[in-house]
Amino acid sequence: MIDFKAISESCVKCGKCIPTCTIHRANADEVTSPRGFLELLGAYDRGDLELDKTAKSIFESCFLCTNCVDVCPNDLPVDGMIENVRYKLAQKYGLSFYKRVVFWLLRHRFFMDLGARFGYVFQTCGFKIKSELNSMQPRFALPMIKKDRLLPSLTSKTFLNSHPEVIKNGGEGKVGIFIGCLANYSYKDIGEGLLEIFKALHVDVYLLKKQACCGAPAYFTGDFDSVEYLARKNIAYFEEVLSELDAIVIPEATCSAMIKEDYVHFFATRDEKLAEKMKKLNEKIFMATEFLDKHTKLKDLLAKKQKKDELITYHDPCHARKMQGIYKEPRSLLVQNYAIEEMSDPNECCGFGGVTIQVEKFHLAEEIGSHKARMIDKTKAKYVSAECSACKMQITSSLHVNKSEVQFKNPIELIARALRD
Ligand code: SF4
Ligand code: SF4
Repeated sequence: MIDFKAISESCVKCGKCIPTCTIHRANADEVTSPRGFLELLGAYDRGDLELDKTAKSIFESCFLCTNCVDVCPNDLPVDGMIENVRYKLAQKYGLSFYKRVVFWLLRHRFFMDLGARFGYVFQTCGFKIKSELNSMQPRFALPMIKKDRLLPSLTSKTFLNSHPEVIKNGGEGKVGIFIGCLANYSYKDIGEGLLEIFKALHVDVYLLKKQACCGAPAYFTGDFDSVEYLARKNIAYFEEVLSELDAIVIPEATCSAMIKEDYVHFFATRDEKLAEKMKKLNEKIFMATEFLDKHTKLKDLLAKKQKKDELITYHDPCHARKMQGIYKEPRSLLVQNYAIEEMSDPNECCGFGGVTIQVEKFHLAEEIGSHKARMIDKTKAKYVSAECSACKMQITSSLHVNKSEVQFKNPIELIARALRD
C-alpha cells in the first residue's frame, strides 16, 4: 500500500501543480488541489483527519488527469494516492448499488453481453438515437442523467461477437486486438476501422475473444477486488497468446495505460513476480497508433492516398500523452491525409473523470467539458480526434451541449476512411 505520509512530506509546496489541476479549475479551493489532497492525506496518515463524508466527496472530485504528476518537480504520484484512498473509502462506506452492478457485469462478460443486448432492444424507449454520433439522448430527465447530454448508444451485436476469432489477411504479421469495453459495446467503428487497416497491411488479426475489461473503471473507483480479478485474468491470457503474436494493439488510451502502467503499479506491492511478468509482456503491447506508426508500413500506404480537403484537430487523452508519452504517433499518421489545426491546449483534460464524476458530480464534468468544446470549436475543424473512447463520450456530449457541429472520430476511424478513398 502506498505510503501517504512519506509522499505528503515530500511535497515542497511549490504550487507548480495548481494552475494545471483540472478540479482546481472548476473549484478554485486549496482542498481540491494536488497540494491540498497531499496535505489532507498526510493528516489522515497521522490520525488527524477522519475519512468522513466530506473527505469522501473531496477525494472523489479529482479527475485523475495526472496533470499534477506531469509537472511536479518531485514526481509525486498524486493519482496513485487518490486511487488508494478511494479504496479505503470503498472499504469504509461500500460501493453504491449501481457501481456494484456495473463492476459485476464487467467481471462477467456473458451477462454483460446479455445486458447490452437487452439494453439495445429497449434503448429507444428512454432515448433518442443519434446514430451518426454512436450516441443517444434521454427523452426525459432521468435520475442523475440530464436531458441534454449524450451517452454511448448500444449496438445490436458487440464488436467481438461480430467476427471470427482469427482473420487471415496474408500473413505478413500477426496481431491481437484488445478492443476495450466502450468500443466493443458501442463505438464499434473503431474496431471495424482497425480490421480494415490490418487487411490493407496484410497482417493477420486475432480478436482475443477471451479478453476481460481492463479494470480501469473499478480502479478509479476503489474497487480493488474487481481490479485484481480482471487484471490476473488478462495477464494470464496475454501470456498464453503473446508467444504466438507479434503484438497486442489497443486503440484506447485508458485501457492501454491501465494495462501497461497501472497493472505494474497495482501488483508491485501485492505480487512482485506478476508485476515483473507484466513488465515483460508490455514489450509487445502497444497503443494502436504507436504500433501502426512505428512497426508497420501504414504511413507509406497513406502517403499514396489522396490528401483530403478536411481540417481536423487532435485532443491528447491524459492516459496517452501524460501516462504513455504517445502524442506524435497519431499525428504522424493523420497528417498524411488530413490538415491538422492544433487547438490552444490539446493537452487540457476533456473532463471525463471516471464513473463517480460522470454520474454523481456531472456538473464538474460539464464545466470542464464546455471549456474544451469551445476550444475545439475555435479551430473550425470538421473532426476532433483522440484515441480514447472515454474522451469520445465526454467530448461528443460537450460539443452537443455547446451546439458545436464538430464531430468526434478516433484516429483509427479517420485512417480507415483515408485508406478507403
Ligand atoms: S490528477 Fe488532475 S484533477 Fe487530480 S489533483 Fe492531479 S491535476 Fe488535479
Ligand atoms: S508540484 Fe509537487 S511538490 Fe509542488 S506543490 Fe504540487 S505536489 Fe507539491
